[in-house]
Amino acid sequence: MTARKILAHEDRFETKGVTIAFTAPTPHDPKLVWACADHPDPDLFHPTDEAGLAAAQAFCADCPVRELCLELGLRRDEYGVWGGVLLENGKPQSAVPRRGRPPKVGSAA
Ligand code: SF4
Repeated sequence: MTARKILAHEDRFETKGVTIAFTAPTPHDPKLVWACADHPDPDLFHPTDEAGLAAAQAFCADCPVRELCLELGLRRDEYGVWGGVLLENGKPQSAVPRRGRPPKVGSAA
């Protein structure tokens, strides 16, 4: 293998997704029951308001893999609700962040 090929090979393994696959893989154990695996609305776990967050947290409340799910979300720098906790780049959030342009301050209406 030439030096150039070795470098290309190493570059491929420096991507975040591959790193996560090695450091925080999803366990494929048939005994683990991921409660949301067949949920018809994946958007539930990416809430845009507090009511949506409450709905996702209520769904996660009884999930048997809740702690493992949260651990994976934290280790993978994930977004959305993992283990009943809203994450943004792997950091727990206390509220749903506001999206879009902030309101103008001091503008005459
Ligand atoms: S805890 Fe994780 S696996 Fe369980 S329902 Fe919530 S998001 Fe899905």
